[in-house]
Amino acid sequence: MEFKILENGNLIESPRELKNIGEYDVIVCGGGMAGFGAAIAASRHGAKVLLIERETALGGLATVGLVPIPLDIPTGISLEMVTRLEALDGYTRRNSNPELHKLVLDRMVKEARIELLLDTAIVDAVVVDNQIRGVVLESKSGRQVVWGKRFIDCTGDADVAYFAGCEIMSGRESDGKHQACSLDFRLGGVDYDKYLESDLKAYDQSWVKLIKAAHEDGRMPIMYENHLNWSVFVPGRPKNCGKDEICFCISHSRNCDPLSNVDLTRMYLEGREQAAFFSRFIKENVPGFENSYLIDTANLLGVRESRRIVGEYVLKTLDFARKAKFDDAITCTHHHFDLHNPDGVGNIKWAKEIIDGKVCYVSSTGHPGSYPPPCGVENMTDGWGRTGADRVFLKDSADIPYRSLVPVKIDNLLVAGRCLSSEFMAQAASRLILCCVNMGQAAGTAAAQSLKEQVVPRKIDIKTLLGTLEADRKA
Ligand SMILES: Cc1cc2nc3c(=O)[nH]c(=O)nc-3n(C[C@H](O)[C@H](O)[C@H](O)COP(=O)(O)OP(=O)(O)OC[C@H]3O[C@@H](n4cnc5c(N)ncnc54)[C@H](O)[C@@H]3O)c2cc1C
Repeated sequence: MEFKILENGNLIESPRELKNIGEYDVIVCGGGMAGFGAAIAASRHGAKVLLIERETALGGLATVGLVPIPLDIPTGISLEMVTRLEALDGYTRRNSNPELHKLVLDRMVKEARIELLLDTAIVDAVVVDNQIRGVVLESKSGRQVVWGKRFIDCTGDADVAYFAGCEIMSGRESDGKHQACSLDFRLGGVDYDKYLESDLKAYDQSWVKLIKAAHEDGRMPIMYENHLNWSVFVPGRPKNCGKDEICFCISHSRNCDPLSNVDLTRMYLEGREQAAFFSRFIKENVPGFENSYLIDTANLLGVRESRRIVGEYVLKTLDFARKAKFDDAITCTHHHFDLHNPDGVGNIKWAKEIIDGKVCYVSSTGHPGSYPPPCGVENMTDGWGRTGADRVFLKDSADIPYRSLVPVKIDNLLVAGRCLSSEFMAQAASRLILCCVNMGQAAGTAAAQSLKEQVVPRKIDIKTLLGTLEADRKA
């Protein structure tokens, strides 16, 4: 390999031959929740599937990122996954055990005869005539190329779509800022029953008063967050032994650039310092945690949003607030606006929108989160800009249309998961773990169908797709 070093220190690599490691019907890029759903669905519908994952386990944020709280609607493959986890004592009351979750994913992928590459990063896409022909991989085996007929980008960061030159959105429309990132951590040695029976749990569930008081009297010199985002009891451990394990989401980095290795490094270091602080703070201040200790911090930073593709349809914030229905709905979500403040403390559960020429602070539930809107809670509107007694907060789920998984540019590419085609706030409302599996199932099914119909994914027969998804959910 020859290099040319430029005067500015940049480097030109010489062309080199990459080893061809095979050809597949469907290549699923990224093995998080969306990638898992996509690979299983495509394989069950007869496609020869390769699933490629950069980390050393499947599950992405839900496992390696220590987000053991799979919310939203279990159906189809996501229901199967939860049922399998339950059978191993790895799932109770919507909380999961990350280690058992990895094992369930390994087993389901193996049973579906999917070929899997872990510890392998996709670093480029080979595009010819508006189609991705192959992706370039980097791993212990060096640089390699693998060829495919259909690609599903489930990298969360829309890496493949970006490498292929698709149009991309990133960050908040007004200033490009991303949601806060979080490094989750686990504490062991907890007496959870004692915590559940404590006054703190009964009267200050999200620790708002505790944190405010601690900040005022100096126990928490830096206001990292004004509330506890969540704490999760990790199932699959001996019961009621006074040595429970709890996973926390409370350490956050702000003003993040999750697409920069420099800023990712800053956030991992910051997250570990915050976890060290919180583990001491919790031990000293929270009943039931007197003997607790830090087990670990996540190996994968909690990036909520980075790149989203521009698809055939961009899911709108107001679609979400109005619970819009779509003829090509491939799944739906029961979530609400849920934005982790990009540049300050608190959760934002409202969206600033212009409706009929008026600035409105739109809520999907009537609850403002821990960062109320400037108009005051009472003046928040519903999805149509109405206030007061006229407001209607629909309890329905919100649809996700197939077209939001189909990029406008590249013909043989689909996406699924948190990089779906959506406005910033609509993404914040539709990225829950089970919804990502469900989007993946739809994308995998569509990819296999498009091969059978011999048309590009944007041209498949949508009624057939919806019929197959419906039948598979009932099976
Ligand atoms: C801190 C935090 C708390 C959350 N809390 C909840 C909650 O309480 N409940 C809930 O349901 N959801 C929650 N979420 C949301 C949810 O966890 C994610 O939106 C969801 O898991 C995303 O799944 P995904 O498959 O789209 O992406 P990811 O989980 O990000 O998966 C993408 C996968 O692709 C891999 N990858 C990336 N780039 C490449 C590449 N170039 N080559 C190969 N592989 C690559 C990654 O390693 C990863 O495994 C939370 C998220 C965060 C960050």
